[in-house]
Amino acid sequence: MAGLIERYREFLPVTDQTPVISLEEGNTPLIPAPRLSQAVGADVYLKYEGANPTGSFKDRGMTMAVSKAAEHGAKAVICASTGNTSASAAAYAARAGMQCIVLIPEGKVALGKLAQVALSGASIVQIEGNFDQCLDMVRYLSEHYPVELVNSVNPFRIDGQKTGAFEIVDALGNPPTYQAMPVGNAGNITAYWAGYKLYRDVGKTGALPTMLGFQAAGAAPIVHGAPVTHPETVATAIRIGNPASWKQAEVARDESGGTIQAVTDEEILEAYRFLSSKEGVFCEPASAAGVAGILRLGKEGFFKASDSIVCILTGNGLKDPQTAMRFSEEIAVMAPDGRALAEHLSLQPVG
Ligand SMILES: *Cc1c(COP(=O)(O)O)cnc(C)c1O
Repeated sequence: MAGLIERYREFLPVTDQTPVISLEEGNTPLIPAPRLSQAVGADVYLKYEGANPTGSFKDRGMTMAVSKAAEHGAKAVICASTGNTSASAAAYAARAGMQCIVLIPEGKVALGKLAQVALSGASIVQIEGNFDQCLDMVRYLSEHYPVELVNSVNPFRIDGQKTGAFEIVDALGNPPTYQAMPVGNAGNITAYWAGYKLYRDVGKTGALPTMLGFQAAGAAPIVHGAPVTHPETVATAIRIGNPASWKQAEVARDESGGTIQAVTDEEILEAYRFLSSKEGVFCEPASAAGVAGILRLGKEGFFKASDSIVCILTGNGLKDPQTAMRFSEEIAVMAPDGRALAEHLSLQPVG
């Protein structure tokens, strides 16, 4: 299966002159979630973006951004990142033979993401500050030096990320009633909404979904209507206090008749564990924010049984092993003794 530029070429700003830099991203599973459906009171599917080559949805935008950078003759790309953008940029830049420069907030990037960038040979700098300050720095550097910015303020990122919406409509035949997702810098909610509208405009579907966005309570500027100077949350991928696509996220919310709400870290971790223990689906904490949101709305009786909901699980659980371990039981260590093991595991003998 070719990557998403080849599959959706007619809907993307590429020409025969565009060198396609691809790792065969996209075409991710849309997994039915029976236990979650029961808990929420509607038909829920999980769009498993952790199956992308670098383990997050960022690859959809990055294949476009780096291909266009190559078309422009760029020799280097730069990004600010809470982790996944840098992992993706590093991989696609390596593939394109470009230099990659990454600025990350000091001490706030999950281990798996850091490992991906570290091995890639990208130039990586931790900034004494948060993501928003990293973004200011890469904007400055890309304006004054010959490095191409590949954050989601790069419009080609949004173009590539629209393909997630195309895949959902192609799989279900129509958009779901609701789409639920985490909101950080707000590029992804912007991209999905644009993707659904484009698919409607070309006649692939007559309907549009209602967009449900969820921010972490400690990093919820859109919910509160003001930037957050010191964003804090266990969901580091959405630890953002001043989203670059703030206005576009509000447009997606308002045009679709949807909502953007805050979920607590406790709710996020509960949803994170629910997905792993009841559905067998391992995502990173930020990805569980959308699921936390629909679990709460479900309890409030928000959904009808005939509704369908797609949750975008934005990143792979393997990205953040430390959070998974921190919120799990300690693992027992025992001698290789059959009887003692059976007792420890509360197993009853056969017959
Ligand atoms: C980037 C990211 C988000 C947030 O997406 P935005 O486009 O910044 O709103 C959410 N979850 C994960 C895993 C991410 O990597």
